[in-house]
Amino acid sequence: MPVSTLVPVAPLAAAPTGDEETAPVLRYHRCGWCGSATGRATLLCPICGSSELQEQASTGAGIVHRLLTPRHRQYTDGETICLVVLEEGFTVQASLDDALPGTVPEGTRVHLAPPAPHTHLPVFRACA
Ligand SMILES: [Zn+2]
Repeated sequence: MPVSTLVPVAPLAAAPTGDEETAPVLRYHRCGWCGSATGRATLLCPICGSSELQEQASTGAGIVHRLLTPRHRQYTDGETICLVVLEEGFTVQASLDDALPGTVPEGTRVHLAPPAPHTHLPVFRACA
């Protein structure tokens, strides 16, 4: 079976640094030409195609835009996948932490939480 050369495009999640005391950081790219933000690991701006992307750190605050895990799978898998729109204007696929099924509706304010071992996605938690 041939080895696939496709590399999945992952959000720019904070890589473990070994220092678990530091707050989690979500990085994104801001285009120097059109000013748009993207959370994807990319070489060119998805809006205007410019290569002048600057890596910046997000505040980690955002809103649940859409829940991607079907309600019935939230019970079986335990992980709730959603799209989070960050205050900086980009969207990431994320895992909701401490989310009982149905308790975090779309539109809920969330903030970045420490990485979790059960997921490769950035983890968000509902604001108190
Ligand atoms: Zn651009």
